[in-house]
Amino acid sequence: MWRLKRRPAGHSRVDAPVQSGGIVALRDLRSRTTTMPARPRKLLLWDIDGTLLFGDHAGERALLVSLRRVFGVEGSLDRVEIAGRTDRFITENLLRAHGVEPTPQAMHDFLEGYLAALPEEMPRGKPRLLPGIVAILEAVAARRDLAQGLLTGNLERGARLKLEPFGVWHYFPFGAYADDSALRNDLGPHALRRAAAHHAAEFAPHDTFIIGDTPHDIDCARAIGARAIAVATGRFSVEKLTAHGADLVLPDLSDSAAFFAFIDA
Ligand SMILES: [Mg+2]
Repeated sequence: MWRLKRRPAGHSRVDAPVQSGGIVALRDLRSRTTTMPARPRKLLLWDIDGTLLFGDHAGERALLVSLRRVFGVEGSLDRVEIAGRTDRFITENLLRAHGVEPTPQAMHDFLEGYLAALPEEMPRGKPRLLPGIVAILEAVAARRDLAQGLLTGNLERGARLKLEPFGVWHYFPFGAYADDSALRNDLGPHALRRAAAHHAAEFAPHDTFIIGDTPHDIDCARAIGARAIAVATGRFSVEKLTAHGADLVLPDLSDSAAFFAFIDA
């Protein structure tokens, strides 16, 4: 006598067609996988200030606002190096320059003050994306052989506050930030690790391109054996960036053909 086989608990009728079609679906998936382009092989890591964005000094103003609000000090940035440095490095030096011991608590309080002041200061100036940026980010995003993320001296929350208003935050699913280290040269391995995790693919240093506007970005590329693309849209000229040994120097990123010719070479 035939007995009706009970479905195991939890299986609904809706599950049944999916189960019976499972083998076909798997074969389908396999053939699709083999025809799909390989995982991304080259990695682009972007600096923010002076590279993607001209902040019109909102970051500098926010540092001074925080110094005033948190420590009651009217300060100046005269003796503090900003370009190419991380927010934590800048904070340590800024606090010391104004007689404040950069204890972990002081650093924390100051950086929270900075992050609160940043969105207030952005609309006080005329921050803007630099020439060619949207076109290049979009072109990279459209290619399956390329991956892109951030390698920036900003804190992650600061990076987001700067990029989200321009609608470009979504291009960067991972990054390395000042949260990872006060030293820019330490950031490369963090970026490589996050890129590998995000794409389930290892990126060779030779296939990694660090794009920035200062000699510190070039040093940071050297520190992991990556290639350095320098753009003269920040404080440093084409001549200065060339003299510092960048592999490619561009006046700005409006010439995407030159940019991709170098990446694809
Ligand atoms: Mg920069």
